[in-house]
Amino acid sequence: MNYLSTRGHPDRKRFCEILLEGLAPDGGLYLPEHYPQVDTAALARWRELPYAELAFEILSLYIDDIPPADLKAICAKTYTAEVFGSDEIVPLRELEDGVYLEALSNGPTLAFKDMAMQLLGNLFEYELARRGAELNILGATSGDTGSAAEYAMRGKKGVRVFMTSPDGRMSPFQQAQMFSLQDQNIHNIAISGVFDDCQDIVKAVSNDLGFKRKYRIGTVNSINWARLLAQVVYYFAGYFQATASNDKPVSFTVPSGNFGNVCAGHVARMMGLPIQTLVVATNENDVLDEFFRTGIYRVRAAADTHETSSPSMDISKASNFERFVFDLVGRDAGKLRSLFVDELGRHGRFDLSADPAFRQAAERFGFKSSRSTHADRLATIRDTDKRFATLVDPHTADGLKAAREHLAPGVPMVVLETALPIKFAATLVEALGHEPARPARFEGIEALPKRVVKLPADAEAVKAYIAQNCD
Ligand SMILES: *Cc1c(COP(=O)(O)O)cnc(C)c1O
Repeated sequence: MNYLSTRGHPDRKRFCEILLEGLAPDGGLYLPEHYPQVDTAALARWRELPYAELAFEILSLYIDDIPPADLKAICAKTYTAEVFGSDEIVPLRELEDGVYLEALSNGPTLAFKDMAMQLLGNLFEYELARRGAELNILGATSGDTGSAAEYAMRGKKGVRVFMTSPDGRMSPFQQAQMFSLQDQNIHNIAISGVFDDCQDIVKAVSNDLGFKRKYRIGTVNSINWARLLAQVVYYFAGYFQATASNDKPVSFTVPSGNFGNVCAGHVARMMGLPIQTLVVATNENDVLDEFFRTGIYRVRAAADTHETSSPSMDISKASNFERFVFDLVGRDAGKLRSLFVDELGRHGRFDLSADPAFRQAAERFGFKSSRSTHADRLATIRDTDKRFATLVDPHTADGLKAAREHLAPGVPMVVLETALPIKFAATLVEALGHEPARPARFEGIEALPKRVVKLPADAEAVKAYIAQNCD
């Protein structure tokens, strides 16, 4: 399998070449040259497989530069009941007639990002050992991504993590999750500033090409193809649990921010998994809902990006969206470039409303969307608790609300649970008047010793800290 850039760069690459890379050299995103097709015989075989073996089958369609026995071992080591809490790994349960919750948040940091990040940690360690190389991951987090990355990379050979976060602005639980890690290869850097300051620092350091090369700086952000690929697997696993045979359609609703999660659903659908509808659920930061309703993609300014009670969906633009638009415009890299480089670069928006391609988003690719507000989240959390004795986190609540707006008779609707409620306790307290239960392993983590350095919002200070800690 070869990978290409959405912006038309002539180079073709193999999986392990793009594993440790971010954007393609022309600023595009990597995609496979084609989507492998899964026939009914394969679906029938896969239905019987445990999760780790299903992951191996799907991954091997896209990865041909890791020997199969090694890839199989990596999958087996990643997706264990010990790490993800059950043999099913992503257990499905029916909430009400035809509406299901797929549990993706029982990994080490209680958010779905563990599903991909845990695999990425093992792939990185494998590939770096094979090359005899090292990598220093520099990131910025306001919560879920940073902790998922740290728990995936802790203790891994050849990898260090330098994770910046805005000092004092994460929830006490999220801070405790990250700062209580004592592993020598994990570095928490609390920046006196806001999340945007952290992101600016990461950008500034990455733009210093000399420093980047010397200290082998890499990232683990959501545009990484390996992360997306890992997420394709749980669409298959959810499908098999929601149906008794492989001729039945299923729809999925996905709480969305950077469009990584739902893009994996798109890939699964392109491979031939019988997905009827992919519902994109957004919060008040509704760039994606606006696009699927109107055909206009309008990036928001920082001032128009709201801080909401589903913070992991607070985005001004959706960094993975370019992958879907590439397919939407018939994989025409010239057209893609004119939209994302010319139009977006110059005007901060593009308009496909009059383009026949836009109709395909719903008709051919099955996309629909909905938007939620803070009041919707509180109402959904209360209603789900009252009627089903089930607690959902604010992001999953956005998903449930959207799902109910797109139900079709006879078609199971699977809502992806993207985090556990304990991560967002303040909103649960606001909705219900009490804290959600906390898994035993997180009992008392706020009291553990913290390993964190405080630095000013200054890229030079962060560079100096990295240099000191790279021997
Ligand atoms: C990251 C995240 C999302 C958004 O996922 P994308 O892949 O960026 O669309 C939604 N919910 C939670 C809890 C998250 O951590």
